[in-house]
Amino acid sequence: MSERMLTVSDINVYYGAIHAIKNVSFEVNEGEVVALIGANGAGKSTTLKTMSGLLRSQTGTIEFLGQNIMHMPADKLVAAGLAHVPEGRRVFAQMSVEENLEMGAFTRPNSEIEPGLERVYAHFPRLKERRRQVAGTLSGGEQQMLAMGRALMSSPKLLMLDEPSMGLAPILIEQIFDIVRELHAAGTTILLVEQNAQMALSIASRAYVMETGKITLSGTGDELLHNDEVRKAYLGG
Ligand code: ATP
Repeated sequence: MSERMLTVSDINVYYGAIHAIKNVSFEVNEGEVVALIGANGAGKSTTLKTMSGLLRSQTGTIEFLGQNIMHMPADKLVAAGLAHVPEGRRVFAQMSVEENLEMGAFTRPNSEIEPGLERVYAHFPRLKERRRQVAGTLSGGEQQMLAMGRALMSSPKLLMLDEPSMGLAPILIEQIFDIVRELHAAGTTILLVEQNAQMALSIASRAYVMETGKITLSGTGDELLHNDEVRKAYLGG
């Protein structure tokens, strides 16, 4: 039985008068890939931002490795082992690939930077080839790799990925998901937000479906792939 890593209980998040997250609870166990799927605007990104301290819940609790992190500042959360790869990558466009990666290690001692770079380059040889290139000139797929590599530089215990497939051609989506599989096989626990339900469910240990701010269904990736409601709503029949 694997250890509980993240326990989210009954959170509610608002943007002014908009109630974006409604009584949401879910958990992630060590070694799992947990997917959060759902349509545009369902509240998936808001959920991840609440985990990483960018937004706050008005209620409930969020426990990470046994510690209540509800009020922990975002930089402390990174140091505690939670890394967030945001929707749209958000690389530092004027900086080189390697400088972007080094920024990802801001919570780590200097002695960990070199081994961190080696580890990231082993997963992403393309980034090594382009390590002196300015990040803003990378392709969309390469920027996604860089955003993931930057997050890995903090040596996360839980890697949270927001829509890694967004805007990428099918062949690149395959590549990115291969890398997600590889990171999982290497022992990283992953919380994955995706609109590409087919891809997400095919690699997920477990998954949750979100609709208008609520979790409406959950199960193993396989159960949801074969669930009639999920097939109709998210898998094209
Ligand atoms: P997407 O894939 O489109 O990002 P999502 O499931 O991640 O969808 P969220 O971005 O979490 O959805 O949005 C949840 C709800 O909160 C939506 O109704 C959205 O319009 C609203 N929302 C998101 N960000 C803001 C904001 N900064 N201000 C006001 N409302 C917001």
